Amino acid sequence: MPEKHTFLEPSIQQETIESLSAKLLSTMTQLTETNQELQKMQMEKNEMLSNISHDLRAPITAIRSAVDYLLSSDSLSFDDYQQSLHLIDRRTRTLENLIQDMYYLFCVEDTSKKLDLQPIDAVPFLEEYFYDTMIDTLYDHHNLHLELPQDLHCTLNIDLQKIIRVLDNLFTNAVKYSAPGSDITLSATLSESYQQLTISVSDNGFGIPQSALPNIFNRTYTVSSSRTPNSNTGSGLGLAIVKAIVERHHGNVSCSSKEGVGSCFSFTLPCQQLPCPSNH
Ligand code: ADP
Repeated sequence: MPEKHTFLEPSIQQETIESLSAKLLSTMTQLTETNQELQKMQMEKNEMLSNISHDLRAPITAIRSAVDYLLSSDSLSFDDYQQSLHLIDRRTRTLENLIQDMYYLFCVEDTSKKLDLQPIDAVPFLEEYFYDTMIDTLYDHHNLHLELPQDLHCTLNIDLQKIIRVLDNLFTNAVKYSAPGSDITLSATLSESYQQLTISVSDNGFGIPQSALPNIFNRTYTVSSSRTPNSNTGSGLGLAIVKAIVERHHGNVSCSSKEGVGSCFSFTLPCQQLPCPSNH
């Protein structure tokens, strides 16, 4: 049987060809953008792997040198032994922190691992966190403040332990990067739509150079040009962990800072407004 062909009117043919070309063009643009995005991710991944191997190598090299030194002679003084052992102890801790933080970050970013979400009343949660922090000896030399609006009544749907980790990282940074006697303030504000809570941890510490601000949450970035983590700083992954946790809760992170004046780290979380408690 002869094959049956359907012929379209020339004007319809023209229209179909035009709409198909437009679709093709838009698909090609999308493909190019996705490809660029993939290349960017690949570059970030390479940079991250190179930074991680550097960060791991630095303490291992220090430990290796100390061990070689201890093995090199049998006439070392007690002080020599003590100094080398303390160095090994410090660098081992650095290594442990780095590995723990790296593992934590990979777990948080693994979307196949579900968050343990539960509805939490924002005010009691923030108050409890604040008063627990106040009695922590780490903050003995800082002045802590809590600023919550009186009419703040909302529920957050959060993985409690992970949001506590966010606050912990921001608070410990505020202590690390400010002088004793400085102020650290925990505050929260509800958006006009009542659908988003912004939680901030601010300090009047050393601040961050403007040039570093756009990269501060990037895990391949450190303010200091030397990537060697030490006891004064940390694994260098604290803010990357903050960003990863907040983004898994569909929130955003931001930072404003001025050198010599202080920093304010904020994150948003979706929330639901609660009815105001009645006065009687
Ligand atoms: P780490 O503190 O382990 O180096 P983070 O990811 O927590 O890693 O922070 C990255 C960098 O951001 C820090 O090295 C520090 O330079 C800067 N930073 C973070 N928080 C503050 C802060 N509150 N004040 C000043 N600088 C900060």
